[in-house]
This record gives sequence, C-alpha cells and structure tokens, in this order.
Amino acid sequence: MKKWLLYFFAVIIILTATPFVSSKLVGRKETEVEVNINGKTVLMNLDEYVARVLLGEGQACESAESKKALAVAVRSCCMNLLSFGGRHTDFDFCDRFDCCFALGDIENCNEETLEKTISAVNETKGIFLTYKNMPALSLFTLCSGSSGAFFELAEELTPIKEDHVCEIHKTEKTIHYENILKDRENAVLVYDENNDCSFAVWDGKYIKGTELKEKLSLPSTEFTLEFRDDGIFATAYGLGNGFGMSLCHAETMAKNGKTFEEILEFYYPNFVACAPNQKQVFD
Ligand SMILES: [Zn+2]
Ligand SMILES: [Zn+2]
Repeated sequence: MKKWLLYFFAVIIILTATPFVSSKLVGRKETEVEVNINGKTVLMNLDEYVARVLLGEGQACESAESKKALAVAVRSCCMNLLSFGGRHTDFDFCDRFDCCFALGDIENCNEETLEKTISAVNETKGIFLTYKNMPALSLFTLCSGSSGAFFELAEELTPIKEDHVCEIHKTEKTIHYENILKDRENAVLVYDENNDCSFAVWDGKYIKGTELKEKLSLPSTEFTLEFRDDGIFATAYGLGNGFGMSLCHAETMAKNGKTFEEILEFYYPNFVACAPNQKQVFD
C-alpha cells in the first residue's frame, strides 16, 4: 500500500468521527468530494483533495507554516463551495485552475514535497475558517499586490496592506505617451493616505485606480508611476488585486517565524477559525 494512502485513512477515521459545522453539508458523506479529473469523476476524501490542491497551487509555500495556512484556506474554500454550490452540477470540483483549483499529481510528485504537504493537511486536520458561522470563501493568489485594492469583491474580504513589496513578482515597463494619452498634461494621479493611486484624471476623464491598471496593462493594483520624458515608467508589485492570502508573502511571513494561525489572522481578519467540533480555535 502506498504510504500516502495510510495517512489518508488515518485522516478519514478522525474526520468521520466528528461532524462538520455546516448543516448544509449534512446528508452527504461529509468528507468526500466528487472531483472531475481528465473528464472522469472520482470520489475522494476532502483532505486528499486539499493535498492535491496544495501540490498544484502551493509551490510558493515551502515552509511548514505557510503550507498549513494554505491547507486551511483551501479546506475552507472547498467547504464554502460545497455549502453554497460551486460551478458544477454533476460533480463538486474539476481539475482546471481557471475554473476550480489546479491539482498536483499525488502519485508522481517529489517525495519530500508530498510528505510536507501531507503533514500540513494532517496538522491542520478539520480546521477551517468561517464567516457568519458558515465556511468562508478564503481566496488566495500566488502574489497579490497588497495595496491599491479598490476592488469590491465580497464584503467579508478586506484588502490587506502587506508590510513589504514583492521583489520577485515585480514588473517594470515604460509605456509611451502616444499609446495611452492624448495629452500628457491631462494626466493627474491622486494618491490616498496609504500612498495608493486611488484615482486618476486621464485625458480629462475621471477614472478609478483599477481602470488605470487595465489601461496601462499592469499585472497588479499595487503600482507606482513616474512621468518621464519618453513615457510613463511603471513599477507593479505582485500579480493580483490585494485580496485574500498572498502565498508569496505568506511564505515570507513563515520564514520570519509566523505561525499558520498568525498568517491566517493577518489575511482573513473577518474570519473565525473552527475545528470539526465547532470549537473556536483562534480568533
Ligand atoms: Zn471547475
Ligand atoms: Zn511575489
């Protein structure tokens, strides 16, 4: 028998002994999910699915604590989608990252990574985040630009201001004036107290910071612009919109000694962590 199978049997025994909090999950085999892989639907334990997502999406999380934070976030997202309904009717999740989550290959992956992943899943057994007593949609991205978050995504997800900018996912480019602006004198950027460009006056029109991001084709809402002779020199940090957990920064936090609880509290201040017995784990 494969080693990881043993781990999952242990998890199944523990998880099935304690029912999940969500009443909408009652009536189905609580810890099993239907996953469509390569067009075929397979039934698997929720934590096996969480481990596969960690392998597929969590490459940035090398440390034990960042992996654990991601395990909890993925578990919560899955339980949220199971409770409120995901994108599919015939099964729960598919294997496409642009639809559900990217899945790693549990049979053919690096053994050390697999062990670390399984430990992260097992050490956070049953822990998930809740919002208004329901599993929370704890979104995450590889590297969300931390500031300049003008998106309105969901009331419970607060834009998070990280204390550093990501130098790994940094984009620098010059955008020539003639491509974007009729008159250079007609561009005014307005920064708020957090030093985020909250809006701009662009060719005489008022636009939001998010629209400016699109106009300049920047990968993140966290950016600085410098008006130079040959064009606008843009520096963008991250690849996201400032919402949810940034795996890149979660890894930095873990390397700086933060625990998975501290990482989750930082990124999801409105969520409450619960264990299967509905006991509050930390707040
Ligand atoms: Zn899908
Ligand atoms: Zn990054």
